[in-house]
Amino acid sequence: MIMPVVLCDADNTLWDTDAVFADAQRALLENIESMIGAQCDRPDRLDFVRQYDQALALIHHLHLRYPPHLLVLALTEGLNGKSPETAAIQIVSGISQAGPISLEAAEELGSLFQERLKVIPRLLPGVRDGLRLALQKDVPIYMLTEGRIDKQKRIIESHKLSENFRAVLEMTKSLQQYERLRSRFLPAEVVVLGDQLDRDIDPARAAGCTTVYVPGRFTPSWNLSKGSQHASYQAENFEDAMIWIINRVVPYFKSSRVADT
Ligand SMILES: [Mg+2]
Repeated sequence: MIMPVVLCDADNTLWDTDAVFADAQRALLENIESMIGAQCDRPDRLDFVRQYDQALALIHHLHLRYPPHLLVLALTEGLNGKSPETAAIQIVSGISQAGPISLEAAEELGSLFQERLKVIPRLLPGVRDGLRLALQKDVPIYMLTEGRIDKQKRIIESHKLSENFRAVLEMTKSLQQYERLRSRFLPAEVVVLGDQLDRDIDPARAAGCTTVYVPGRFTPSWNLSKGSQHASYQAENFEDAMIWIINRVVPYFKSSRVADT
């Protein structure tokens, strides 16, 4: 019996990166408001920030990794009434220079925002139990990240989960990369587990991997219209995902947690 190899996304699949971003985005909006003396009048302040964030990510060549001072500048325009799209085009093309905030001040708030993003995120429900289960059953788990390896390793270590992962792999989540990993682990089945349909599920499925979708709370606008009908399984949380994966290889297997209750 060959156990499947699990390739697991990290952000919003293993830990709550979304909450860290939400806190930092709310704090950033407050900082900008007090600096320029304007108030956001929307009831959903987080949604306000995220509309500008996503408008920038959609048109910037670095996508979600655009420099954070651009978000400061876009929000400043937003607080002055500009729509997310108009503000993003203006900021990314560099047209808007003489705004109510200097470039230096924007960069300063931008780096403060980045500092806040370094907070260690908490693990999502079911992750610790699911990882324990995988270890018990000898299911190898590799973490996949498009972000920085050192950052993800730091989070793994601070949650004392180093022994639960065979390795952390940094890669672009493309069809070709999933195909490469699928051949690398042959004859084992490769199961890709993640919270984003466009990065974790669609290209992995196209590469012939089994896919498990664990919906997160954060769905960027470009994923909203897509359904989850294409994943092999939609899990409630990480532990549910792991039970499903193990059940397919070890029929009638139930987690000890389920068996105890
Ligand atoms: Mg993710």
